[in-house]
Amino acid sequence: MIIFKQVKDIQEYIEANKLKGQKIGFVPTMGALHPGHLSLIEAARSHSNIIVCSIFVNPTQFNDPKDFEKYPITIEQDIYLLEKAGCNVLFLPSVNEIYPAGMTATSHFELGFLETILDGKYRPGHFQGVCQVMDRLLNIIQPDNLFMGQKDYQQCMVLKMLVAKNFPSLQFFMCATQREADGLAMSSRNIRLNRDERQVAVKIAETLQFLNKNLVPGSFTDLKVRAVKMLTDNNFKVDYVEIATANTLQLTESWDGKEPMVALIAAFLGEVRLIDNLIIPA
Ligand code: AMP
Repeated sequence: MIIFKQVKDIQEYIEANKLKGQKIGFVPTMGALHPGHLSLIEAARSHSNIIVCSIFVNPTQFNDPKDFEKYPITIEQDIYLLEKAGCNVLFLPSVNEIYPAGMTATSHFELGFLETILDGKYRPGHFQGVCQVMDRLLNIIQPDNLFMGQKDYQQCMVLKMLVAKNFPSLQFFMCATQREADGLAMSSRNIRLNRDERQVAVKIAETLQFLNKNLVPGSFTDLKVRAVKMLTDNNFKVDYVEIATANTLQLTESWDGKEPMVALIAAFLGEVRLIDNLIIPA
């Protein structure tokens, strides 16, 4: 695996390989890699000659400075895991390399209602930061295919929008959420859970299963109230439990019995904010 830290070096490498007809698959991450990330590398393999992974903890997408400061960094282990997974290129830029003109946003990305619901509502500015870094990374790497996780469902919807607008020839792949044996969605933030919190954390996945099992045509407002209670009874501080249309992420309060839906949860256990989702009916 080749490691690049500078934009000009990786660009030179990519350009030379694209001229040779090589297809570039890109997996952007913030590091502290786990099998969920590695499943994206695996997915990239069958669609790419060269798999590029980036590790960059993007300051502009953290609305909470404490969350940014405490974001886990395990770079040596990450390099080892990427090598083992058969990743070809790791892009490991500094903040300066990504934001040479400073971190103040110079452009606004039009995301419509996606920006004001769910994580957009609870993490103001988060998706602008995500778009800022992804626009920059995609311009640097110029991939043919982009692989991202369903774990961050709203992020996938936002990225699909950005890609359609700014990178129309780029193919977007949303890859399945990888889970621990008990069902907890794998996340870099899980490292920060203490033993008791880790045991309780699975309640998020269980609550999603509860929503899946009990969703029937008609209003689901009461069902959501019961789901919130399942979490608050277990010491979660809930940001949201919502059910939206899976294709457009429109929040609603009832189901027609036909349309694919997605149930989404964000909740804190202590200081750690966890998110998860499930396409329902599953
Ligand atoms: P992050 O490092 O958290 O920014 O995540 C980098 C990429 O990995 C994003 O596309 C995430 O959606 C994806 N990802 C994170 N957790 C998982 C998981 N448990 N299963 C599949 N993909 C994941």
